[in-house]
Amino acid sequence: MKIAVASGKGGTGKTTVAVNMALSVDFPVTLVDADVEEPNGIFFLPLTLEKSGDVSIREPVVNSSRCTSCGACAKACRFNAIAITPKGAMIFPELCHACGGCFMACREGAITERERVIGALSQGKAGNLTFIQGELNVGEALAPPVIREAKKRAEEASLIIIDSPPGTACPMVAAVGDADFVLLVTEPTPFGLNDLKLAVETVRTLSRPFGVVINRDGIGDEGVRDYCAREGIEIVGSVPDDRAVAEHYSRGIPAVVLSPDYKALFKEILRKAKEGISSKEDL
Ligand code: SF4
Ligand code: SF4
Repeated sequence: MKIAVASGKGGTGKTTVAVNMALSVDFPVTLVDADVEEPNGIFFLPLTLEKSGDVSIREPVVNSSRCTSCGACAKACRFNAIAITPKGAMIFPELCHACGGCFMACREGAITERERVIGALSQGKAGNLTFIQGELNVGEALAPPVIREAKKRAEEASLIIIDSPPGTACPMVAAVGDADFVLLVTEPTPFGLNDLKLAVETVRTLSRPFGVVINRDGIGDEGVRDYCAREGIEIVGSVPDDRAVAEHYSRGIPAVVLSPDYKALFKEILRKAKEGISSKEDL
């Protein structure tokens, strides 16, 4: 059972929801920090991380002495990562998605592949919680392979909570694309609503069942609630705007530690997400 926690933009409380949900239960749960460009779930968890492996991609390398500048590789590349010059093909690593297309397209054997480490995985355990963190190396742009590897490490677990990268681009899609349920976290403000709409569009395109969690409920306006009512989107929970929670958060103390009421609140959000999965399976 995979539940992804996502949001149309950063800073809405996505990690707060993911971490507190994971800490609210008394049975085995695996939390994956898939926000690989800025993983910060560990700051709120009572455990020590140990590196468990590297994540590499196979990047293409052109042997110019064999290259005839035929252009077949550039034609095969869907990411415009290859330019053809009179001196041979030139690859732009920052655009390359390591798909292997050019390697297969080159009939001259002018392209080989080499491994390049782009990120790392770490892991820790405390009680019933297993935590897996993916981290993209500084200067690297290709987050999805690190996200996929982090998720793969969690595959055996019966309940997986995925803290997705913010936004609606490829990294978010890699994190939520195969989730059984997606919790979209938003703040009840016009900006929050705007980003929520984009996130809703994305999860609908991916055909993922989803619900909304309103964070810092009490600030802003009724726009998010009105939108959800119009669109028939369930609000599976709301976390009040609470100064004590914010103060403890800034010191790395999650809300569930603060009060049993918060533990009950996040447990209920998780229960509703699981209910959303069951109702999908009943269809
Ligand atoms: S397909 Fe091979 S030979 Fe043709 S341009 Fe690309 S690298 Fe060179
Ligand atoms: S590996 Fe894929 S993305 Fe990278 S240059 Fe080759 S075809 Fe383009």
